[in-house]
Amino acid sequence: MKKITIAIDGFSSTGKSTLAKHLANHFGYTYVDSGAMYRTVTLYAMQHGLIDENNFDKEKLISHLKNIEISFIFNKALGFAEVYLNGVNVENEIRSLEVSNHVSKVAAVSEVRSKLVEQQHKMGKNKGVVMDGRDIGTVVFPDAELKLFLTASAETRAKRRFNELKKRGDNVLFEDVLKNVEERDYIDSHRKDSPLVKADDAKEIDNSNMTKEDQFEIAKNLVDKILESQK
Ligand code: C5P
Repeated sequence: MKKITIAIDGFSSTGKSTLAKHLANHFGYTYVDSGAMYRTVTLYAMQHGLIDENNFDKEKLISHLKNIEISFIFNKALGFAEVYLNGVNVENEIRSLEVSNHVSKVAAVSEVRSKLVEQQHKMGKNKGVVMDGRDIGTVVFPDAELKLFLTASAETRAKRRFNELKKRGDNVLFEDVLKNVEERDYIDSHRKDSPLVKADDAKEIDNSNMTKEDQFEIAKNLVDKILESQK
């Protein structure tokens, strides 16, 4: 059967990765978490003292980009690929609130975006891929057969992220998580290069009051329809 490309975009903590992983497992596709790539570059910048609460040495980060190698290795037990920075597994570290607080500044740098988009193109060139992010349907794969745009209220999303961080054992305050979600929404939607916008041909799903299963059913049916029409 012919394989398609599925692009899932939307605001932070809208459940993009949960839906993307579910679809990838169901259809036997590869899941690529593009946000993990921006988070990994951010972690590198933090480790090398290039970014903190007050400063961001953008030029130095640009000069370091050639030293940053990001790879994904499938973890059978988890059922998805974990992200590695220069050969070291950073899957857990990149999910901290500290990385979240800096990532949108790093993701607004055009040189960072072009490096990561080039790698994303390579990962998706044979189709059979579900990629989630902010610019997948607009910039990375504008020809994707299915484009989804997920939304939910900021409060709902912050609650989801807060529960995730608590579950990991992170000591965070709800208001800090909400502030982070709102700040990232703003920076991601207002940056010059590849801002977060819904592609004209994307299907919007507001999942504020939906279960994960309801959402999966909607998306699965859309994929089935496309696959059927290609027969
Ligand atoms: O998806 P996630 O919340 O992990 O993404 C972290 C950040 O990475 C986003 O807030 C955004 O700044 C950036 N990002 C991006 N383009 C993508 C994926 C993520 O700019 N395709």
